[in-house]
Amino acid sequence: MAAAETTESTAREFLTDIGPKPGVKYPVDIRYCGECSMPTEYCEYYPGYERCKKWLEDNLPKEFEKLMSGKGGGDIEEEKDGEDKKKRQTRGGKGAVKAKKKLEPEGIKLATSTRGKKKKITIVTGLASYEIDLKAASKFFSNKFSCGSSISGDDEIVIQGDVKDDLFDILPEKWSIIDEESIEDLGELKK
Ligand SMILES: [Zn+2]
Repeated sequence: MAAAETTESTAREFLTDIGPKPGVKYPVDIRYCGECSMPTEYCEYYPGYERCKKWLEDNLPKEFEKLMSGKGGGDIEEEKDGEDKKKRQTRGGKGAVKAKKKLEPEGIKLATSTRGKKKKITIVTGLASYEIDLKAASKFFSNKFSCGSSISGDDEIVIQGDVKDDLFDILPEKWSIIDEESIEDLGELKK
């Protein structure tokens, strides 16, 4: 029982350790291309890639197959294990490098609405697009207006009470990044 557990955890460790990590150079046995003399995974950046492919097909058919299946890497071992191969593909694939999308200020939108019979609320959207921390903003509103305030969406804060008119002054005053001109009044939303 204990022995089986050990084997299992070792295997798991092995699997999580094996993937290529960005920025790490691996002394795995690298195969060089006879056409462009680069490691085979770089062939596709070589202008004579078509000739590389021919060379690879003739000399390193296994490597060629692997490159054609959309992945680099030089370890033939992994072909024995389909699952492991999948893992490496998702980790080391070209698509893995995704730049974080920068937020663009989208303007602030203010609106009022009613909750229940005659409870007014004010809805503020767009703060997060200025990279303003919604949690801090909500707390600020709550203190400023002595009322409840909560985050109600990805980029939406609901303030209890009608404080919309005050916000046109308060928002640019509190966050200089917000221009009063970029605050839009959506009026009263019908529920
Ligand atoms: Zn080549």
